[in-house]
Amino acid sequence: MKSLFWFRGDLRLDDNPGLKACFENSEEVHAIFIFSKRQLNLHNESNVKIDFLIKNLISLESDLKDLNIPLTIIKSDGFEDDPSVISQIANERKLEKVFWNKQFGEDEANRDTKTSDLLSALDIGFESYHDQVVYVPGTLRTGQDSPYSVFTPFKRKWIENFDMNFLDIDYKYEKKNATNIKSNLDDFGFEKTHQADMSLWQEGEKEAIKRVKFFLRDKAINYSKDRNDPIIDGTSRISPYLALGIISPKRCILEALKANNFEFTSGHIGITKWIDEIVWREFYRNIMFSFPKVSRGMPFQDYSKSIQWRFNESELAAWKSGHTGFPIIDAAMRQLLHEGWMHNRLRMVVAMFFTKNMLHDWRLGEAYFMQNLIDADFSSNNGGWQWSSSTGTDAAPYFRIFNPITQSTNFDKEGLFIKKYVPELKELDKSVIHNPPAEHRKYCKYPNPILDLKESRLRAIEAFKQAKS
Ligand code: FAD
Repeated sequence: MKSLFWFRGDLRLDDNPGLKACFENSEEVHAIFIFSKRQLNLHNESNVKIDFLIKNLISLESDLKDLNIPLTIIKSDGFEDDPSVISQIANERKLEKVFWNKQFGEDEANRDTKTSDLLSALDIGFESYHDQVVYVPGTLRTGQDSPYSVFTPFKRKWIENFDMNFLDIDYKYEKKNATNIKSNLDDFGFEKTHQADMSLWQEGEKEAIKRVKFFLRDKAINYSKDRNDPIIDGTSRISPYLALGIISPKRCILEALKANNFEFTSGHIGITKWIDEIVWREFYRNIMFSFPKVSRGMPFQDYSKSIQWRFNESELAAWKSGHTGFPIIDAAMRQLLHEGWMHNRLRMVVAMFFTKNMLHDWRLGEAYFMQNLIDADFSSNNGGWQWSSSTGTDAAPYFRIFNPITQSTNFDKEGLFIKKYVPELKELDKSVIHNPPAEHRKYCKYPNPILDLKESRLRAIEAFKQAKS
């Protein structure tokens, strides 16, 4: 059989169930990726993530070439065009079946339904698989047969139902018959507008697996302790690779279990904690699947629709560029621009500052993160923003508001992270760097705080109280 594999959020060979099925059933395999600037813009995808995507497509093409699989990149106008692009290619090349891995979003699911209808009309077969999470989305349910909306019981069930057969993912691809179709990787029409240092993010699935193994060997041992300290860089930094599917969650879990004697809850505390984080990712993907309202700009908690958010252009600009006058917030926001990535604790701190102290609508912050993160991932980003703004699942109670100065003193004790990203403060002593006095600010040409922490905290509590009542 001659078949087509359609790459989307799974730019890898390893643990790719759709590609594996395609290989097992076909003598000749063609691959396709549809690149649509318009669709990427519609989904708010960041320039830095698109840059990384293109680099990974080039790497994927080279891996596929070794197996005699040509990768065709087609430009389209968006999801509406994709069904006809796929059916046309399959038809023109006389391919008998199309394989793909499912994606979660509503738009993606509609696109796939239309594609299946068109292919059926042309008498071309299709098969689709799951690769984004360990369990088929929506299948883990509470005792009352409803989807989980709280993390801890979700995780308990996730572990209870775990079957080692899920991790039967090693597969050796054999070369296919050569075809006369050539790969095309010409101009993507990409214009770089981001300033992130791409040397931090080497492309390719070999790099992704190397990162996970390095983390598990050298960093996981201290992960529980180091994961909250941004200067230590004690996390895996695998998120950009998971976001584009350059590595699969099952591969991450399998490698973690191998390093922990196949224990989920005992053994190495750093590794079990890290697996928990991967399960958080699965949880938010399930929320997106079971509660489609979150994909439509709605809060998870209905009451929070009536919160009266403020809007202040200059505060928003100060937050975005890292000039709020709160050193840890500014360091974090500048890390985002320098690296395309931000440390998890700081994501919570800046998001809470944005939605509580500034009392700005979480959707504005969510969109800014999508537009600037190399690991931008709708469900994790939405989950993180809704958690921080107390509008989501498992949300932090609205009156528990992080104080950015206390967070800074606790997690960047020596102020080294601040000094790295806010160099105008590099001469300050750790005793003042977290909240420099007025004369230090003047000397360092560092702005005064854009708001009063105490007053803004009370203002937020009042706004949430009003919405609740
Ligand atoms: P590690 O600590 O090494 O964790 C391993 C993996 O577990 C991560 O790569 C990620 O896939 C998953 N993970 C870890 N923490 C979380 C979490 N809180 N929620 C869901 N999954 C998690 N993560 C994204 O991948 N994309 C986003 O767009 C995103 N936006 C966020 C926005 C906010 C406001 C917040 C609070 C969190 C957001 N996160 C997002 C979650 C988390 O911050 C990142 O996954 C993590 O910082 C990535 O770094 P790492 O790979 O070194 O993580």
